[in-house]
Amino acid sequence: MTNTTKDRILEVKTLWHSYGLAPALRGVDLKAARGEFVTLLGPSGSGKSTLLRILAGLELPTKVDAMILDGQDVSAIPANRRNVSTVFQHYGLFPHLNVRENVEYGLRARKVPAAERREKALRMLDQVQLGGFAERPISRLSGGQKQRVAIARSLVLEPVILLLDEPLGALDEKLRIDMQVELLELQRRLQMTFIYVTHSQEEALTMSDRILLMNDGNIVQTGTPEDMFDRPNSRFSASFMGVENLLDAKVTAINGKTATVDVNGTLIEGLWTGTDLPAVDDTVCCGFRSERVHLSNEENGETNHLEGRLTSHIYKGKYLDLTYQTAIGPIRMRSWQSNVAPTETARIAWRKDQTILCPST
Ligand code: ADP
Repeated sequence: MTNTTKDRILEVKTLWHSYGLAPALRGVDLKAARGEFVTLLGPSGSGKSTLLRILAGLELPTKVDAMILDGQDVSAIPANRRNVSTVFQHYGLFPHLNVRENVEYGLRARKVPAAERREKALRMLDQVQLGGFAERPISRLSGGQKQRVAIARSLVLEPVILLLDEPLGALDEKLRIDMQVELLELQRRLQMTFIYVTHSQEEALTMSDRILLMNDGNIVQTGTPEDMFDRPNSRFSASFMGVENLLDAKVTAINGKTATVDVNGTLIEGLWTGTDLPAVDDTVCCGFRSERVHLSNEENGETNHLEGRLTSHIYKGKYLDLTYQTAIGPIRMRSWQSNVAPTETARIAWRKDQTILCPST
């Protein structure tokens, strides 16, 4: 997905927001391209909802240099005159109206004639797989169906951007996973820009073109799901993206992006994934994913090896989660051969480009 000026549908420059004295957003920049699926990911309290509410116009920012939506600066334009819609976790449907009437609600407020309203609502209900449910009372819908109605009600207004605040948070796991795929297909079909808030790294990885990782009112890393998964730029990003093995290390050599670090007396080679290159003797973080590590009795071009003694193994159905005690501490490894009993001692190996080296904060 390109993000040239021509394709850009949203640009926010240096956005600050405080509730009383406490800053919730600290000079955030944000861009989105037409048709892009952008996810705001981060722990609770990192500022995701505040940013979304400001984009919607539901909250006025304390200070912003510019907020350009579809070519127009909307920083001073109220919610009802911005062409954006928001889907919340708690659907906010009207219980006394049926499915179709809920979807038509915003069009009615815009004084769209009845026949056109009905036609648009029915078309949108088809898009969210609720074609046969138009006259059903809201009380007779499941959670997933209610959320689909809420999405149809937002989309029928043809917003330039759809904002979604943890829309699947109230659904059980199986339904949530099905709805992720459905939402993604809908977004691709409509080629609409979605800005999606979640605290779930798995959800962000599944759905996004681009992820903006937030912490304490800042966007701390922006990247594709692959970047975020394999190249976190800080210990915080690595930890939030679920890198299981994270160790304190000291840089002993650096050559371009390749660095060697000392972890408890063992030398490990990896690639620097942080922004500014470190210097020799800097304390950094060394990380590698449990699914990138494997057992090896031969040299297969891996740079990094450790001898390990099995201390725990947990059967997870499709895989085994193993822990080996090594010279650098306990190392977690995922084995996809869940029907093969792990050996008591093993040689663990992984490649240089599977080692994340980044700042330790
Ligand atoms: P997230 O969506 O990432 O959980 P929020 O944007 O809700 O984060 O919150 C960011 C910070 O702003 C938090 O410290 C939160 O306590 C604070 N905050 C959010 N809403 C309000 C509010 N209405 N009044 C006061 N503080 C708020």
